[in-house]
Amino acid sequence: MYEYDVIVVGAGGAGLRAAIAAHEEGADVALVTKLHPVRSHTGAAEGGINAALREGDDWELHAYDTMKGADYLSDAPAVDTFAKDAPKEVVQLEHWGMPFSREDDGRVSQRPFGGLSFPRTTYAGAETGHHLLHTMYEQVVKRGIDVFDEWYVMNLAVTDEDDPEERTCHGCVAYDIKSGEVEGFRAQNGVILATGGLGQVYDHTTNAVANTGDGAAMAYRAGVPLEDMEMIQFHPTTLPSTGVLISEGVRGEGGILYNDNEERFMFEHGYANNDGELASRDVVSRAELTEVNEGRGIEDEYVHLDMRHLGEERILDRLENILHLAEDFEGVDGLDEPMPVKPGQHYAMGGIECNENGETCVEGLYAAGETACVSLHGANRLGGNALPELLVFAPAPASTPPAAIWPPRASTPAPPPRAKLANSTPRSRPGCWRTPKTTPSRTGVLWPNPNPSCRTPSSANVTAWRNC
Ligand SMILES: Cc1cc2nc3c(=O)[nH]c(=O)nc-3n(C[C@H](O)[C@H](O)[C@H](O)COP(=O)(O)OP(=O)(O)OC[C@H]3O[C@@H](n4cnc5c(N)ncnc54)[C@H](O)[C@@H]3O)c2cc1C
Repeated sequence: MYEYDVIVVGAGGAGLRAAIAAHEEGADVALVTKLHPVRSHTGAAEGGINAALREGDDWELHAYDTMKGADYLSDAPAVDTFAKDAPKEVVQLEHWGMPFSREDDGRVSQRPFGGLSFPRTTYAGAETGHHLLHTMYEQVVKRGIDVFDEWYVMNLAVTDEDDPEERTCHGCVAYDIKSGEVEGFRAQNGVILATGGLGQVYDHTTNAVANTGDGAAMAYRAGVPLEDMEMIQFHPTTLPSTGVLISEGVRGEGGILYNDNEERFMFEHGYANNDGELASRDVVSRAELTEVNEGRGIEDEYVHLDMRHLGEERILDRLENILHLAEDFEGVDGLDEPMPVKPGQHYAMGGIECNENGETCVEGLYAAGETACVSLHGANRLGGNALPELLVFAPAPASTPPAAIWPPRASTPAPPPRAKLANSTPRSRPGCWRTPKTTPSRTGVLWPNPNPSCRTPSSANVTAWRNC
């Protein structure tokens, strides 16, 4: 049996960030992950990280875009916290050494992304997620956090009261993939599930084969509700043969979509007369499918994404890996030909029901990252909003006043607490999933209403808001 204060299951962006945050709160942390941390699927993120950093931009605009993109079904305080804290997290990454792409004057570059009213997507070439993982893994190594990589967590250790809200999570059970050895991991203060997406339940997906929704399944078996599971995002530009993603960065840089009649259908068929190819993902995916269903698709299956007009220099500078993907998987040279694309499953907006602090209804069980549902993305996540979510909400338990979850070392029984687990000081836990999520956010700032004539969105007045 291994014993720690906090066990983080999964070492993608969410797991690494949560582990760092818990460690900074003084917890003895272990990461248990079926993949080596830097092989986690966060490494596939190409496009970027949204944060309102520049003059002329504002976290309130970011919040508005997020809520609008979500079809007004996000939880407003979560949106508020997210948009407000994202810049701090991006600056933190930069201080940790993340090699962001930069302007000639040295400022971190930002580019347009679908559904954004300001070019606020920071990026590191077309390998943003890769650099994000490496930057945070370095911090984990620096802090000496224990990493059990290639350990597959199978189940949670949860007490068996009838009512899930009475239950407590004390750890998990995992096996070492190399040896087959099964071990218990005991967590005095909490288990954080950060196991990523579930795309492999779909036939055509951008998600890696490791994205099998393990965390959601474990939480469900422990009695935690799954929220918004019907909210699945389809990305409009995936390669037809494999589902491999062609980043939204291509459209952000000016890539154009054409149908079989070489019409720029986003405009010519009136799907998004203002935003065209940069409309939000659900709008563009539906438009592509409509084109195919109405007989204007190419080979009755896909449409074309053309970036030739951007020029070789710009493509090589900002989108080089897209050239490799198109060549390797479709045999297409993106400098000379348009690339075939079609919609594919990309992201689960729903997941393990939790609040802004990552708490679930089972005491001691937390969720973070794509497997969690803080209710930030509503019916549609904006491109570039998942990575900052990992950063803003993953550390939530640690950023709760320490006395609430992790009593400061000085006030706890003498370390190491492992030998005294049974007698340890009981924790108090603020709120749980039954606490209405519309309580004031961590920042205490209300979601902004850019048009005062419109009321705060709720399910009752969504229609009114759509017209605002
Ligand atoms: C192709 C692609 C491109 C994307 N591009 C962007 C982008 O540009 N910007 C953006 O904001 N978002 C992007 N996203 C979304 C974003 O990358 C993901 O939502 C996010 O990286 C998920 O991070 P995570 O830490 O929750 O999960 P992951 O990075 O998938 O990590 C999951 C971790 O859990 C571990 N794990 C899973 N099950 C178990 C188990 N049973 N036992 C032990 N360990 C387990 C894995 O080993 C892994 O370490 C993209 C998504 C895809 C698919």
